[in-house]
Amino acid sequence: MNGTLIPNTPFAVDFWQIRKCSHVRLFFLSHLHSDHTSGLSSTWNRSIYCSPITAKLLQWKFQVEETLIHPLEVGESHLLYLDEVGKETMTVTLIDSNHCPGSVMFLFDGYFGTILYTDFRYTPTMFCNSPLSTEKRIDVLYLDNTNCDPESVVPSRQEATEQIKEIINSHPEHNVVIGLYNLGKESLLIELALAFKTWVVVSPRRLQMFQLLRLSDVFTSEVGAGRIHVVDQNEINRFNMIRWNQTCPTIAIVPTSRRMKVTHRDIHVVPYSDHSSFQELQEFVARLKPYSIMPIVKGKACQAYFSQYLSSRDELKSIQIPETVEKCMKKNSKHHDALPHQFFKPRTLDIPRGVVFEPPEKGLHDCNGADYLCTEELSWCYASLKSFDAVVEQYFKKRNKLIVRNTLD
Ligand SMILES: [Zn+2]
Repeated sequence: MNGTLIPNTPFAVDFWQIRKCSHVRLFFLSHLHSDHTSGLSSTWNRSIYCSPITAKLLQWKFQVEETLIHPLEVGESHLLYLDEVGKETMTVTLIDSNHCPGSVMFLFDGYFGTILYTDFRYTPTMFCNSPLSTEKRIDVLYLDNTNCDPESVVPSRQEATEQIKEIINSHPEHNVVIGLYNLGKESLLIELALAFKTWVVVSPRRLQMFQLLRLSDVFTSEVGAGRIHVVDQNEINRFNMIRWNQTCPTIAIVPTSRRMKVTHRDIHVVPYSDHSSFQELQEFVARLKPYSIMPIVKGKACQAYFSQYLSSRDELKSIQIPETVEKCMKKNSKHHDALPHQFFKPRTLDIPRGVVFEPPEKGLHDCNGADYLCTEELSWCYASLKSFDAVVEQYFKKRNKLIVRNTLD
């Protein structure tokens, strides 16, 4: 997951490689997991839109300048300008995605149609009094397809929590080390703390983050104060297991639905997931009935599983980028005057529809999968380069400084 440039628009979600998207004006951050923040740093100098909790964490973790962070209330629709003259607008609605603290789905509505971006654990309450419950159809659903595999077994988080409790119960004399990423699964830790009546020992930095999130008072950074310890997931390995067991009998638990090689008999991998199970994805798509689906985990095709739930329309919907928006996108692109005219010729582009899909690596609309041209003089990205091959080749001959790079993130 390295973010998504929304085709034919000046906005992007979780995409921070500025050299590849100089036409983008509006940057949205869905949540603060590291695979969604690649490229963000304290030197970031563009506006970022996110939930209020993510805004707090963003400033704490990356020290992004406060004036650049725009927290948007969850559950409300916000009007944002897409150009500099105040003519073209879109609305964005943030919906709690039940994934990790501060995480949201984005529902965009504008000249490009209606787009929903998800990274979520589905729960039916998402349709209660929510913008998703309206009759309005989604044109493009960016679907969190992390667990989109009919073979994968992903129980509910409550069931997975019970599995973890059983493992701990069957090792009454052991310390418990839990391997986690930087954010997420806090409710599991709180439940274990209360069930086993122990403090949960975390690093001082994680404790600081939990205090910022105002979580229950079950965490401490005092080593030895509790039976349950949280470490980074990559610290759960054979070497550490042997080392920990030299001091005290220790089991490790890794709550994840990802496949993992187990290198020690006391490492327990439990499919606790903050992403929707395959069945939940099916239910979600069946209720939403979008016109098309784009997977957010690239290279993991999933559309075929949902074709029976998609809406169809009589005519192909086309998107015409409004003049003022296009002007703004060009203006933001570096050195656009140096480019051949053809590259910026206004085009009518189609959005995916029905059961006809383009995989992201080949899609006309996914700049992640498109080719990029990088030079000292220019840096931009656009879709469907292949149709311009001849033009590009000629252009290269004239300007031997150019380097072509295929960038498939
Ligand atoms: Zn995530």
